[in-house]
Amino acid sequence: MAKQEDDFKKVISHAKEYGFIFPSSEIYDGLSAVYDYGQNGAELKNNIKQYWWKAMTQLNENIVGIDAAILMHPTTWKASGHVDAFNDPLIDNKDSKKRFRADVLIEDYCAKLEDKALKEIAKAKKRFGEAFDEAQFVSTNPKVLGYREKQKEILQRMAKSLDNNDLADVKALIEELEIADPDTGSKNWTDVRQFNLMFGTKLGASAENATDLYLRPETAQGIFVNFLNVQKTSRHKLPFGIAQIGKAFRNEIVARQFIFRMREFEQMEMQFFVPPGTELQFYEMWKEKRYKWHLALGLGEENYKFHDHEKLAHYANAAADIEFKFPFGFKELEGIHSRTDFDLSAHEKFSGRKIQYFDPERNESYVPYVVETSIGLDRMFLALFSHCLKDEVLEDGSSRTVLSLPPALAPVKAAILPLVKKDGLPEFAERIFNDLKYDFNIIFEEKDSIGKRYRRQDAIGTPFCITVDHDSLKDFTVTLRERDTMKQERVPVENLRQIIDKKVSFRNLLSKI
Ligand code: ATP
Repeated sequence: MAKQEDDFKKVISHAKEYGFIFPSSEIYDGLSAVYDYGQNGAELKNNIKQYWWKAMTQLNENIVGIDAAILMHPTTWKASGHVDAFNDPLIDNKDSKKRFRADVLIEDYCAKLEDKALKEIAKAKKRFGEAFDEAQFVSTNPKVLGYREKQKEILQRMAKSLDNNDLADVKALIEELEIADPDTGSKNWTDVRQFNLMFGTKLGASAENATDLYLRPETAQGIFVNFLNVQKTSRHKLPFGIAQIGKAFRNEIVARQFIFRMREFEQMEMQFFVPPGTELQFYEMWKEKRYKWHLALGLGEENYKFHDHEKLAHYANAAADIEFKFPFGFKELEGIHSRTDFDLSAHEKFSGRKIQYFDPERNESYVPYVVETSIGLDRMFLALFSHCLKDEVLEDGSSRTVLSLPPALAPVKAAILPLVKKDGLPEFAERIFNDLKYDFNIIFEEKDSIGKRYRRQDAIGTPFCITVDHDSLKDFTVTLRERDTMKQERVPVENLRQIIDKKVSFRNLLSKI
């Protein structure tokens, strides 16, 4: 646990030290769970967006992208169910004065039971060696069965109480399980209350005439309310999709995990509209497609897992998360949901407009069904950044910190480094810079020793360093150093563009999907 915490602290401090992520308004001591992206962070974030956007809109002939406003007509949120039901159950500890999500306290308790079950399995594996039949052990061992049965019982009871808004029972469950404040051990809890996560704001100049609005808590509704506009103007037939990247706002009760849970964050969502009855087939298709998108990044299949939801939201008929192994364990990175016709039907009802599609093949009109894929851009950033940040011990015993990002996503593609600041080397290097800058985001650095400059580029994930020395002036070659292997080779200046492009182009990633 301590190692995990240390690793995570290292991620946060590296992100700040190298211009990726700063606490928001830091000179005023920051704003809780709000962050700013610095010069390298903004580049990395833009590259992740491009990877997603191209994969959705460019690679799929039947998906188009839009950019809807953050502010929407307030009835949108009545129709979507957010005004009445976008709540989290909160509970305060009276001694520590800390606030928690009651459901998360209970889920964490269950996660501990699961850890115990996994420990039993690991112990048995060790004991029986090769002959170990895990499936049989899991289905017969009384301890494992007991831990799993208990989890199921607890989660079912919690789900039922939350569905019935029986918050007294949620508190009773916390007390029966003797759940304590994880930091102080205190079990002195307040009652559980519902808390709506939407941020309110006002539209209009005078107090009397102002309209109450919300900052959107998800980008999806901007797509639903534009379904007819996009379908009519794009002339797409079903199935077709609408993609969007944009900010969302949630007044999260507990936000203590850096950019994993923020109050202002960005989502990349795609709603795929399909004929009723075909949604589960498209749901499976999108689960597979999204999984491939992740795997193409090369972070390792063992770091992902699907978590199929047993308890479904009232509007969904299937849902799964793609979980990633963050520094604090496997957690949701992306959700894939079969949302039925819930949203479009609700907007039809609340707006009084017909939101239907005429299907020429079925010769009938209907409200389309929707399969959505929804990923947090900031969580994706954290997944990449935390996974790729490594301390390496080199052959000569020295060490380096390297951010081994997929080259297409690296903030800076190449650094041009004149060996010394004289003898015409900076001018020669500048000519290379001026030629390559039209194709790639590159930087020019002449300060410090070449070794220090290499280390700085490793730390921000730059795939190539190009060193200009005295020979360069004579034979028009430079030393090209590759980030991961640290191999150096002499290459003609005229080949640089092609070599860099081959390594960093989006084609490398997109062609693997
Ligand atoms: P969680 O259970 O972690 O609160 P959620 O199920 O509420 O997430 P969704 O409403 O399905 O999340 O949102 C889709 C995606 O948006 C999530 O998979 C996640 O990547 C991202 N996301 C949601 N809330 C936040 C947040 N507060 N900060 C950053 N990203 C978020």
